[in-house]
Amino acid sequence: MVAQTLRTLPKPHRISIAVLTVFVLILITSSIFSADASKHTTSSLLEPGVVYPVNLQVTSQQLNSKLIQTDITEVTVRSGDNLAKIFQRLNLSASDTYYVSNATGEGIQQLLKMRPGDTLQLEFDTRGKINFIRYPISFQETLVITRQTDSDYSSTIETQEVEARLFFAQGTITSSFWHAGVKAGLSDNKIMELADIFGWDIDFAMEIRSGDTFNVAYEQLYINGEWIDEGNIVAAEFVNQGESFIAVRHSDGSYYSDTGRSMKKSFLRAPVNFRYVSSNFNPKRFHPVQKRIKPHRGVDYVAPVGTPIVSAGKGRVVEAGYNRFNGNYVFIQHGDRYMTKYLHLNTKKVKKGQTVNQGQTIGTLGRTGMVTGAHLHYEFLVDGVHRNPRTVKLPKAAPIDASQKAEFFANAKLQIERLANNKRIMLASL
Ligand SMILES: [Zn+2]
Repeated sequence: MVAQTLRTLPKPHRISIAVLTVFVLILITSSIFSADASKHTTSSLLEPGVVYPVNLQVTSQQLNSKLIQTDITEVTVRSGDNLAKIFQRLNLSASDTYYVSNATGEGIQQLLKMRPGDTLQLEFDTRGKINFIRYPISFQETLVITRQTDSDYSSTIETQEVEARLFFAQGTITSSFWHAGVKAGLSDNKIMELADIFGWDIDFAMEIRSGDTFNVAYEQLYINGEWIDEGNIVAAEFVNQGESFIAVRHSDGSYYSDTGRSMKKSFLRAPVNFRYVSSNFNPKRFHPVQKRIKPHRGVDYVAPVGTPIVSAGKGRVVEAGYNRFNGNYVFIQHGDRYMTKYLHLNTKKVKKGQTVNQGQTIGTLGRTGMVTGAHLHYEFLVDGVHRNPRTVKLPKAAPIDASQKAEFFANAKLQIERLANNKRIMLASL
């Protein structure tokens, strides 16, 4: 149980625990410390689970000399290093370099690709000859060079299996999506990925509300029980203003809804990343252009000058100019019916006539033209009429390919059930 718990902890934690454990063992068994310190370590005090206040002056050298008791030497590759230089530093001979670099077997050429910061582990026998060298070349792969005779080495690449474990997180938004994500234990990357998955349906900059919820299943990756990285989001649900959106990852790496429609659509809900926007939601938000006499027909995103502004969809730049009302502005035509407009830009990154992709940066947010503060004024037009991008009917997203349907729905059913189960468990534990 304890070992299991330890294994699931992040690596730095386990290293700290290991160091502490060794430290405590040294305290118990060693007499290298001062008499004053040993007063605190009488056996009557040593009960499991009790933390002792210890005030010791131990140099890291003393600690290291106790910790390193192995014959394995670890070498960090320096800038400009090669095997010959490393062997020279280890007082190995030129013939050792020759025999090792001519090892028979797979992967020996990896030694030519060593990069600064890589590590080599070498084990020596009592004569100072190399028993083996281990060179991790990726999370999964290690080049292993083994001595057969003193003048003959063999090499092989060991591949370690990556194990994915499923984790769940869920939250209710009270102040901002970012805060709720952090509180739920999600990393910055996972929070951004979640917003990216739902970014065609939900405007994370403007339309997140208190009471919105999310529920996500994602992978953590392990090798030999040791955490190495985060994996993918497998499935997620986001409830925005009472409307539920569900996304499930397919084996092709794309996300589809529970009805099998692509999460990717012709238009992003917001032309600006939510993390730049000053407040994710605020009913009393200052409206920088409320005092305009003309009716306001767009959405205003308040964010710092210089924030990247992206095209909501694939299209062609039909205007990229400046006037004293709009400041720097860009208009983009998408097919025959749709147009998006971006006003008050600090800089324009596109020219009239240019084609742009969805998500491509077209300029940066500014305060040019008739404005009282820095913001993006964004308009969405259908057949020349201003529409609310949230409520306007848009082309339906592409469904999953017919040949993939059976596989997708079988997996989606399982993942959605897991999400629902987790929701029940979390609610029950409140
Ligand atoms: Zn506006």
